[in-house]
Order: sequence, then structure tokens, then C-alpha cells
Amino acid sequence: MKEKITPYLRGLLHFESMGRQYLKDKNEGEHFDDPLMEEAHERVRGLVHKYPNRALIKVSYLCAAHCRFCTRIRQIGNKEGTLSDDDIENIALYLQLHPEIDDVILSGGDPFYTPRITQKLLNRLAQIESIKVFRIGTRMPLQSPDSFQTKPLQALIQYLVTLADRLPVYVLIHVEHPDELTDAVVDLLRKWRKHPFTLLSQTVFLKGINDEFDILYPLFKQLYHLGVTPYYLYHCDKVAGLERFVGDMEKEKKIALQLRESLSGIACPLFVEDIANGYGKWPVV
Ligand SMILES: *Cc1c(COP(=O)(O)O)cnc(C)c1O
Ligand code: SF4
Repeated sequence: MKEKITPYLRGLLHFESMGRQYLKDKNEGEHFDDPLMEEAHERVRGLVHKYPNRALIKVSYLCAAHCRFCTRIRQIGNKEGTLSDDDIENIALYLQLHPEIDDVILSGGDPFYTPRITQKLLNRLAQIESIKVFRIGTRMPLQSPDSFQTKPLQALIQYLVTLADRLPVYVLIHVEHPDELTDAVVDLLRKWRKHPFTLLSQTVFLKGINDEFDILYPLFKQLYHLGVTPYYLYHCDKVAGLERFVGDMEKEKKIALQLRESLSGIACPLFVEDIANGYGKWPVV
């Protein structure tokens, strides 16, 4: 995976500490595996159906910036992953044949990086009666907040506003460090809070970057104050070649307990590990 960082991120004053999540290491390998066995559960191109009632859809493998610790580092940046019209139709047919799936998670890549395709996909899926909840995972608000002033993204946000009138829509931002919550990001989140979709966040423990109580405590507190509910705090997935990011489990458990003691219940995410054997994101403490 090539190094890719937005001009906005490069310009941040605090890029030194939190920016390391984007920098390639000279000892990093070239080949990465699929620790969560997603490919084994990819039923039609782009759709991962691992748990009975919910499916994950990869809109593309493209993102505004490339996080070195990404679980899908093996795919990120590859243009081949972008859904075509045929792929969208095949995904819709699969979901129609599986009415037990009531919850669809758009991921990637970043669904906001290809707004027209995401909107086309949502528009098709919104016709399927059995889908009751939509979720969209993104890092774009933190990697390129200015992009949300462009027409295609504004149209997509407006589409989500309309969709959220009818069904629950969750926008799940992926944030690792309080330095990522700049004025531009805070402004955007404040705007979004007025929309009818629900804001959640997820965070990955990253060794040497955010695995300190004094970093995560202000992060979750600030998110809570902004109306963003922290959903999951992950132990970093063990991708071969990315061991440098995986922290010490005992240390992380201690931090998670300290967070539980200090934060409001709603502000404290569930500390989980994604267990590849089928249980999914399982609580650690
Ligand atoms: C994370 C994930 C989900 C959603 O899991 P929740 O625990 O419901 O948030 C669904 N499918 C796949 C493949 C996932 O990785
Ligand atoms: S934005 Fe998300 S999908 Fe893209 S590289 Fe980062 S963690 Fe991976």
C-alpha cells in the first residue's frame, strides 16, 4: 500500500504524534494477510456476510489517506475494488434473497471517498424492504473535512438526511487521537449533529500512538461533548507485517477499566477484539 496523506493532514500542527498512523515503516513487509477471513465470507463481489443478520459492503478500496494499520491494507488503494453497476445489482439481489439481513454496513475503503457510487448503492438498497438500518463507516471527516463542501458529498449528505427520515442511519467515524479533532472537524461534526442520522465513533488501540489513558480519556470526553457516541474501542487486528501497531493486552485492559471508572457510561466505548472464528467483535473486559 502506497503512502497517501491529505494536504490537510500534513498541515496539522500536531501531525508528529498522531500522524505516525499514516507513515510507512522501513521494515514493513509488502505482503499482508486477511486476518478476519473476510474473503472467505465474500458472497458476491463487495459483500461480506459473516454474521446472520448483518452484512458489510465494501464500496471501493479507496480512501482519502492510507492508514498503515488498516485491517484491509492488502486491498487499500486498489482501483479494482470499486463497485460497478452490475456489482450493485448483484449485491441487491443477494440481499433480497436474504431477508434475514436487516442491517447493512457500508465500508471500504471509505464510502465518502466515492460519493456518487455510495449514493447509487444506497438508492438501490433503500428499495429493499427487509433492510431496516444503514451504517456508514468513514474517516474522511478527519482526513479531509473540507471535502464535505464539494457538491457530490453535499448531495450524499442530503441523501442521508432524507433516508434518515425513514430509517435509522448511523454515521460511524473512525478516530484515534484527540489531535484529530481540529476546529475544522469540530465544525463539521457540529453541523452533522443537526441532521437526523446518529453519530457514532470507533477507535483502534495503536501502540505508541494512543495507548495511554491521558490520550483516550480526552478523546472520548470530547466526542461525547460533540454528540458523538463512542461505540467500539478495538484491540488492533493482527495483520502479518503490521505487528508494530499491536499493543500490550494487559496494558490496554487496565486503560479500558480506568476509562470505565472515569467516563459517563455513554461516553465509554466497549473494548473488543475481533475474533476471526465467527464470534465477531467480542468484549475483552
Ligand atoms: C464489524 C462487522 C459487522 C458489524 O458488527 P457489529 O458488532 O454489529 O457492529 C458486520 N459484518 C462484518 C463483516 C464486520 O466486520
Ligand atoms: S480510512 Fe479506513 S479503510 Fe481506509 S485505510 Fe484507513 S482504516 Fe483502512
